Amino acid sequence: MIQAQILDLLERLRRELDLAMILISHDLSVLADTCEQVTIMYAGKTMESGKTMDVFTEPKHPYTQGLVGAFPDIRGPRSMPESIPGAVPSLISPPAGCVFHPRCKFAFDRCTRAEPALTELTAGRRAACFLYPEVTEVPGRPIPIAGA
Ligand code: SF4
Repeated sequence: MIQAQILDLLERLRRELDLAMILISHDLSVLADTCEQVTIMYAGKTMESGKTMDVFTEPKHPYTQGLVGAFPDIRGPRSMPESIPGAVPSLISPPAGCVFHPRCKFAFDRCTRAEPALTELTAGRRAACFLYPEVTEVPGRPIPIAGA
């Protein structure tokens, strides 16, 4: 209740004062309800960004897919949310290569050696992952979905 009141207040202030607002949260439902754009971060790095609904309904990055898969869904048949295995790495000595590779079920050799750049997949949609082409998305390319 308190959270909803605070979010309502922030939204009212944003509208009345014509402000931009940056909200930092681990609660995907709050972000979905509040933000037009979202940036998904892991260990201090941007993993994916884009319009909030696009990112949450069709997550591209394996970390975003894991986050969405770990969130309970009230639609459809009941099922247990799937957690992302492993733990957040030390930021003092983060993993080489892609910082998410020790927990990524799609990781391959290159992921342990090089850091993927944040690249534009489609207009306004970006991800940092070697599973995707580095300039533009190829139509028809299969998109790995968490749990598939
Ligand atoms: S770059 Fe490799 S380890 Fe990192 S998210 Fe993509 S597939 Fe997984």
